[in-house]
Amino acid sequence: MTKIYGSGKNAVTALDGVSLAVRRGTFLAIMGPSGSGKSTFLHCAAGLDRPTRGEVVLGDIRLAGLGEELLSEIRRDRVGFVFQSYNLLDSLTVADNVGLPFRLAGTPVPTDRVRAELAGVGLADLDDRYPGQLSGGQRQRVAIARALVTAPDVIFADEPTGALDTRSGKQVLELLRGVVDRTGQTVVMVTHDPVAASHADAVTFLADGRLAGELTRPTPDQVADRMTRLGDW
Ligand code: ADP
Ligand code: MG
Repeated sequence: MTKIYGSGKNAVTALDGVSLAVRRGTFLAIMGPSGSGKSTFLHCAAGLDRPTRGEVVLGDIRLAGLGEELLSEIRRDRVGFVFQSYNLLDSLTVADNVGLPFRLAGTPVPTDRVRAELAGVGLADLDDRYPGQLSGGQRQRVAIARALVTAPDVIFADEPTGALDTRSGKQVLELLRGVVDRTGQTVVMVTHDPVAASHADAVTFLADGRLAGELTRPTPDQVADRMTRLGDW
């Protein structure tokens, strides 16, 4: 797909003919220098934004043909998104944050599902706290529980460990790895960190909005070496 922001003299080609298939039930990392189009790719793939040309197919659903209403239904039911900055609502408790996708959909919140997801990310006892009372790693685990609570086919994560210390980051990566291994859901994660990328089954590299190679079963050293050659460091 191709994504062009703006038009005329101000046009920026963020993605230039990127074609990528992600196998169901796998964990893919996407790496590349800053500005290479990683977030743009993730937003288009998740239906948060539309590509200028080309199309996104999620399972058997072509997003391009969908109107706004159906698209937001797909986003809600089939896709989970995790951001670097957590994007929790500070005025809601942990449990209410996790139940938010149901509230937004106007359907009853399945409190046992919420509880189970919180237990799954190791936060069963913190359900009535507020985000402001949690560490960064705990907040990101709440965000992951919220992404998982609708049982989506695929979870997109944009630098989910970017704001975390090594230890909390490792917990988040092991959670995402476990989701793929236990439930067969698909995870696509953008990261800057070769160690984070090594938790994935494969890494795809982007440079200047184009595909720039891939590694399967990546080691941190292989990833770092490839990134150096892309000119990131
Ligand atoms: P990455 O996540 O790899 O750092 P992005 O996908 O955020 O890269 O950005 C790719 C390119 O598109 C950059 O040149 C960026 O400045 C540009 N870009 C991103 N979002 C917008 C936007 N909303 N409007 C205009 N240009 C944008
Ligand atoms: Mg980005």
